[in-house]
Amino acid sequence: MRMEKQTAIVTGGSRGIGRAIVDRLLADGHNVVTCGRGERPKDLSDAAVWVQADVSKTDDAAALVKTANTTFGQITLLVNNAGVQVEKTVADSDDDDWDLVMNVNCKGVFNMCRAALVDMAEQGGNIINIGSISGVVADPSMALYNASKAFVHGLTRSIAVDHGPKVRCNAIRPGWIMTEMAEDGFALARDPEQAMADALARHPVGRFGEPKDIANMVAWLASDQSTYVSGECFTVDGGMTAASPLNPGLF
Ligand code: NDP
Repeated sequence: MRMEKQTAIVTGGSRGIGRAIVDRLLADGHNVVTCGRGERPKDLSDAAVWVQADVSKTDDAAALVKTANTTFGQITLLVNNAGVQVEKTVADSDDDDWDLVMNVNCKGVFNMCRAALVDMAEQGGNIINIGSISGVVADPSMALYNASKAFVHGLTRSIAVDHGPKVRCNAIRPGWIMTEMAEDGFALARDPEQAMADALARHPVGRFGEPKDIANMVAWLASDQSTYVSGECFTVDGGMTAASPLNPGLF
């Protein structure tokens, strides 16, 4: 894939999917700034610039963009990966749950897009948001999380429409990608092992996802192989949500 060198921000690069995206973009030769709410992780590549930032805070989002601009030159690629998950139904959710999920998953994405678009809207850029299949089909007991990811998909389309042709904006909807967040989801089940075996059986590709599966999709969306692609949400779930509810084993 041909790719011009980008100044990239990846939010939530301390672990999981975000870390795989950071590593892939570095391997592809880009300059990468990443963030999380804590200290710089010891195992983060020296090539990545770390900023301690909470994307739900407007000032932190602006500071993150400023760091990228002053360190590497104007930001051209933003990957909104940072996210949190609360495993509750609406009836069980309280105001703190609402504030946490909506402030990070919705306001955080909005904050970062708004800060990046100050320059991108004029000079061009590329935004990739990490949504979820949970924004399309409802994972049980994840009501606010599911709704927050539907917001991400909707905002993605709006940015593509409002800020094209200077800016492309797409979302990736991962399925079950084996990270701490996914483990927390399975831990909810009455029998986590059985739940994992059942979920695995619903994957036509025969395996769960790995963070690098999402990083591969980011690499394509960041490349000039995808310049005709904008306003779209790409499901990367090993075929899980392609299946009808009928059990193929019974036919
Ligand atoms: P993890 O929980 O493993 O990692 C989340 C990352 O986000 C961490 O680096 C965390 O760092 C960071 N983060 C959380 N809140 C904030 C904040 N307010 N400001 C800055 N950084 C923050 O999650 P995954 O890697 O599994 O998920 C990454 C993304 O992919 C999320 O948006 C998630 O919703 C989405 N996704 C994941 C799926 C999966 O199966 N794993 C499926 C579908 C979507 P720190 O805690 O240090 O702040």
